[in-house]
This record gives sequence, structure tokens and C-alpha cells, in this order.
Amino acid sequence: MTALTSPTSSALAARTADSSAHPAAIVARADAPALRVATLRKHYGSLSALDGVSFRVGRGEIVGLLGPNGAGKTTTINVILGLLEPTSGRVEIDGIDIAHHRARALERTNFAAVYASLPGNLTVSQNLRFFGLLYDVRGLPRRIEELLGEFDLVHLRGTKCGLLSSGEQTRAALAKALINHPKLLLLDEPTASLDPSAAQIIREKIKNLATRDGCGILWTSHNMHEVEAVCDRVLFLSHGKVLLEGNPARLPQEHGAADLEELFIRVAREPLVHVSVAP
Ligand code: ATP
Repeated sequence: MTALTSPTSSALAARTADSSAHPAAIVARADAPALRVATLRKHYGSLSALDGVSFRVGRGEIVGLLGPNGAGKTTTINVILGLLEPTSGRVEIDGIDIAHHRARALERTNFAAVYASLPGNLTVSQNLRFFGLLYDVRGLPRRIEELLGEFDLVHLRGTKCGLLSSGEQTRAALAKALINHPKLLLLDEPTASLDPSAAQIIREKIKNLATRDGCGILWTSHNMHEVEAVCDRVLFLSHGKVLLEGNPARLPQEHGAADLEELFIRVAREPLVHVSVAP
């Protein structure tokens, strides 16, 4: 990761001044996808971290954002979270343009990442309350109890997050990520520090969340077996461009690879011009 993203940043960003002229005019369209990214570019001098990235995440859909180190995944996530200004392009969350209605768009979003731990000096309950207040969650005490129960955190409610095991921290981070009933959830390697059994439980919970609540999920992982098991669709980023897109079960076969891992390795190693993009 090139940028260490603070877990509070997107919530704080959501609460900063919105450039909306009239909040009542901002209504999420019922048919809008959870996320629409259109021709996103981010230049650092002569380097194009993002070079015209476009994709969608539908409601209830889990999309894997894959790519080798330096491909542009973190940059994409940071732009969607409003932490990084793109050079050009457009991001809509639940049909709301983040450039024009920043607070309205970001209050529909949340994220969890293994590198963005919750403040360690606050207990699990205090953290959930803190983020719930930042997001202005209605019925917050009840929401906190629901999440403590759902992520098996009831017995840890009074424990400081800095003292939790990696698995417990991941569960607490996911509980925090759901505090505001997000329409779009960004998960950056959510199971990276978990044992196989704990990882499977978390994967099931997240899949259930997409199915049950219709939350759109953008999932970043370097674990191709996990991606195959969880994602409805994958995007391969390379050198800031979307190189391949499709169903993780069918994509390898369409490109003459045994599995997603073999396809990933080929995409990562071959020069951009030599990668086959059509079956
Ligand atoms: P990883 O899997 O290693 O985390 P990534 O796909 O998340 O990689 P990014 O962190 O998005 O990749 O980086 C994309 C490119 O942009 C890299 O070449 C990186 O060096 C470059 N980059 C990112 N942030 C900056 C910055 N602030 N200044 C200059 N270059 C940057």
C-alpha cells in the first residue's frame, strides 16, 4: 500500500462541507448501481497511477479488484473514499456524484482494511459509538448491540481495541464498517490476518450482507482462491487500466488459464500490449 488510510478519514470527509446547492435536490436514484466509476485518471507527474479506469458495482454485487503491486488498487479506493482528488473522471455512489455532493455520497459508504486499525485506546463499544456518531446513525445504541451480536463481540465490548487479537480486530473493523448501513462497502484484504476457519466465517458473513441487504461490495485481495469463492465479478487492474473483467469462474478458461491464480500471474508478468483481452 502506498497510502496509509485512517479509518476516521472517510467518515470525517463525509461530515465536511458539502458543495450541494440544495440538499433536498439530492435523491439517490432507485436504479443506480452502488458504485459507478467513469474514466478515472490520477497522474503524479509523468506517472499515471490511474489511466481511464471505468467500472460499476451493482447493488448486492461483490466485485473483486485485483492487480499486481502498484497497479492502482489503493489509489482507486482512496479516490472513491474521497481521500484523494482524481486528476479527472467521475465517481457516483448510489447514484450521487461525490464531486458535487460529497457528504451525501460518503455517508452511504464505509470501508475496512487490515492496515487501518481502529483507535486502540478505545473499547470496541466506544469505537462503534464514535463512528456511529460521526455517521450520525439513527438508533445508534440498538445498532451497536446488533453488530456486537452479529460479529461475536458481546464479550469483548469493554476491551480496548489495541488489546484484541488480529481476528477479533477484523471482526470489530467489519462491525464498524457496517455501522451506517452502507450502500457501498470497500474491503481491502479483509481476511488477510485471519486463520482459514475465521476467514471462512467472515466471507460467509460478507456474502450474506450483499444478498440480504443489497450492499454493493468492492473487495481487494491477493488471495485468488478467496476471490473465486466470494466475488460475482472481477476486474484486473494493471498499470492503472482495467485489463480484464468477468466472472471469476469463467474468466480463466476464456483466456486459456487453468485458474484465476495462473491468469493473475500472466497478467502481472506480461507487458501490457501482449495481454489477451478477448477470448
Ligand atoms: P499494492 O498492491 O502494492 O498495494 P496498488 O495496486 O494498491 O499496489 P497503488 O498504491 O494504487 O497500487 O499505486 C499505484 C501507482 O501509483 C504506483 O506506481 C505508486 O508508486 C504510485 N503512487 C501512489 N501514490 C503516489 C504518490 N503519492 N506519489 C507518487 N506516486 C504514487
